[in-house]
Amino acid sequence: MKILLVDDSPEALAIAAARLRKDEHEVVSADDGKSGLAAARSEKPDLILLDVDMPDMTGFDVCRTLKSDEELRMIPVIFLTGSADTADKVKGLDLGAVDYVTKPFDAFELRARVRAALRTKHLQDLLVKHTRIDPLTELWNRRALTDRLKQEWAKIQRHGGTAAFVMCDIDHFKHVNDTYGHRIGDKIIYRVAKILAGQCRESDLPVRYGGEEFAILIPDEQTGAAAALAERCQREIEEMRLQVGQEDVCVTVSFGVADTDGTTSPETLIESADAALYKAKHAGRNRVVVASAEQTVF
Ligand SMILES: [Mg+2]
Repeated sequence: MKILLVDDSPEALAIAAARLRKDEHEVVSADDGKSGLAAARSEKPDLILLDVDMPDMTGFDVCRTLKSDEELRMIPVIFLTGSADTADKVKGLDLGAVDYVTKPFDAFELRARVRAALRTKHLQDLLVKHTRIDPLTELWNRRALTDRLKQEWAKIQRHGGTAAFVMCDIDHFKHVNDTYGHRIGDKIIYRVAKILAGQCRESDLPVRYGGEEFAILIPDEQTGAAAALAERCQREIEEMRLQVGQEDVCVTVSFGVADTDGTTSPETLIESADAALYKAKHAGRNRVVVASAEQTVF
């Protein structure tokens, strides 16, 4: 686990870091509030130990900023308070900190409180993940997509860049369900999902969008790379066979691809890909259609 230490006292930093490294945590440190916030953004720590009493920006100010930031608010904060002042401790907890430790640190207490906070963080991460995963396919769900689109949009607005989006849908899926039953239908959905996920990079987000509908968010790419990815999926799915009794069941998938430079809304990106998917269906299915050029790639 990675812990960020923010304290203006070099001695306090050194002592806390030495103790936390005993538990094999990775420790990064900052010696004022501003660089602490910067480190929180760049390092994405699992826990922040935050000194209350710092010049310029106090620990309370840092905590307020952390808790108002969509991307940072979930990182637990433990305040390091030099005083035995109850008011400070209450204020810290009210600002959203999970705990506080009084300086000078007791070695065992510091480590135990850090362990407790990290345990809670781990459970919280698991919980968040479970609300974002589709149980049948183990792909991300639409809630995860909505959150990730928001993040990618913020990134593009800040630093520029692009994102590509693929919408796809299993062709004639109702026929599969009607002919072989829903159990086989689910198996097909699962296999298609694995193929889509298998073609994704770590940074891509493969999503079960609806029943037999899927999506892939591809950061930092344009339609060219997205169409190539869709094409690889399309071919692999076309060759997939699911044995049902004596029969080999196979399906095809239609794909719509779009991209954005952040000038439109996330909804528009999804709609463009969806419109391209609609064209792919009407052009005979089992193909990839790119939204902007409105051309069939394959
Ligand atoms: Mg201090």
